[in-house]
Amino acid sequence: MKMYLNSIYLATEGEGVHVGTPQVFVRYQGCNIGCLNCDSKDTWEFKDGMGLDFHGVLAEINAVSLQQKIKRVSITGGDPLHPMFEDSVLALVKELKKDGFYINIEASGQRISHKTFDLIDYISFDFKTPCTGIKGQLNLIEKLSEQYPNKFQIKSVVETRKDFDYLIVQKEKLENTDFPWVITPSYNLNEEFPKERFNQIIAWNEDLHFPFRVIAQQHKLLHGPDKKQI
Ligand code: SF4
Repeated sequence: MKMYLNSIYLATEGEGVHVGTPQVFVRYQGCNIGCLNCDSKDTWEFKDGMGLDFHGVLAEINAVSLQQKIKRVSITGGDPLHPMFEDSVLALVKELKKDGFYINIEASGQRISHKTFDLIDYISFDFKTPCTGIKGQLNLIEKLSEQYPNKFQIKSVVETRKDFDYLIVQKEKLENTDFPWVITPSYNLNEEFPKERFNQIIAWNEDLHFPFRVIAQQHKLLHGPDKKQI
């Protein structure tokens, strides 16, 4: 089975509800969604960046996890739910679950894979905002609420008030909002620390009695917006 992987590394989760949790990141190489403000454009091209077969990938994940005794994996990308990757993600998930790993997947928010979602422990699912140039898929959030309650978070990048207002309107359309919806203030490449944007978003959220959780990407605060594998 051909593995399209960019990298495997141990790091501390820097965003969303699991911020601060150490885990092994398994980063797929390939995405054709094309968010305007993507911070991982190096993962767009579909190619094998590691030169490992399936068993080599499993061995590498186990070796990295053993270094610090961390039995937790985040499958990310790129777009790990691209149909080209479905078989290899599913095979990885099955093997890692046999070994007792907790598994999170970072989903682009454009697709649901029931075969994978049924087996993993947590789904971090993007809902795209206008600043990304990609349409958010509200119907997929409804499906997650019905089929995977208590097993997912929604993450949305907010750059301007237009993005924030868009999220408010979309959230009001949902019947069930009993799940964490995390706003990630955008921190764009080549940008100085956007403290003013963070404070504005927190203030807008406070004015509306906290419809969202605002969580910064702490790895970017610590290392800058373009450093990888942190
Ligand atoms: S889905 Fe993720 S990797 Fe793909 S373009 Fe958007 S932000 Fe980048």
